[in-house]
Amino acid sequence: TQPTVAFLGLGHMGGPMAANLVKAGYRVTGYDPVPAALEQAARDGLAVADSAVVAVADADVVITMLPNGRLVLDLYDEILPAVKGDTLFVDSSTIDVADARAAHDKALQAGHRAVDAPVSGGVAGATAGTLAFMVGGSEADFSSAHPLLDVMGRKVVHCGASGVGQAAKICNNMILGVSMIAISEAFVLGEKLGLSNQALFDVASNASGQCWALTSNCPVPGPVPTTPANHDYQPGFAAALMDKDLGLAANAVRANGVDAELGLRAAELYHRFNTDGGGALDFSAIVTDIRTRSSQ
Ligand code: NAD
Repeated sequence: TQPTVAFLGLGHMGGPMAANLVKAGYRVTGYDPVPAALEQAARDGLAVADSAVVAVADADVVITMLPNGRLVLDLYDEILPAVKGDTLFVDSSTIDVADARAAHDKALQAGHRAVDAPVSGGVAGATAGTLAFMVGGSEADFSSAHPLLDVMGRKVVHCGASGVGQAAKICNNMILGVSMIAISEAFVLGEKLGLSNQALFDVASNASGQCWALTSNCPVPGPVPTTPANHDYQPGFAAALMDKDLGLAANAVRANGVDAELGLRAAELYHRFNTDGGGALDFSAIVTDIRTRSSQ
């Protein structure tokens, strides 16, 4: 028989993810403190509860999709006394590796099972059921979570022990943030030197500068017509989320004594771009900031 699911956090990502579980035939009870999120969940066929404690009472699996690690840890403290024995906790929020490990330990110490399972793919992927899941936890707990993750995603990778799913997420996004800045700096330098964006694209996309930030999310309009650069930098992947993820990467870099100068600098630059008002734009819009600063 299919497990009964409690889904806590029905925002931009959690809402459509939970709806896909319902479509696949799972019984899902949802909770979110925002009334509009609960109303949408009811329209999507979830049973809705008026507290997290009520939502988890009957659950075999508890999935959380929350903004940050503090909220996840506080919510675990709130619901752990209310869940059944041997409940599987799946946290899909993007949070600090240290918080993910603390959440995992809380669940295990109370006699339950847990995986961290952050995602990439954004709201479009959540809606289409095509997210990529990066999972940390034991082989047995990964296997238990796998069928549910398969419903919400297209690619599910077991990355290692507890917290290692979060590690994969922030390491990937550190590569992405650094490479987007590098590509953007090169375009602006090229502009100053009389090299057209198209010519640089034609060379670099077929040479050793080739990378996803260039060929799939090209930060200047023209060379790749589908990218946010061609649509006033509407996201896509918002710069505010890149700021958040690079902040988590920077925390882990510092906590582990890694000499990651570019990762830390990328975190600073995206933080500045976000707080200066660029947060709602696609993260490739950082090229406009580099261009503006370069002509000063
Ligand atoms: P969101 O703010 O839209 O949704 C979070 C929801 O959690 C909100 O509706 C909020 O009311 C709810 N919430 C807060 N406290 C709660 C509690 N105690 N119990 C139940 N619900 C609670 O955020 P989102 O865009 O859905 O992102 C969720 C997570 O997914 C974040 O960690 C984010 O970094 C990550 N993520 C987001 C994207 C994206 O494109 N939006 C992509 C990948 C990963």
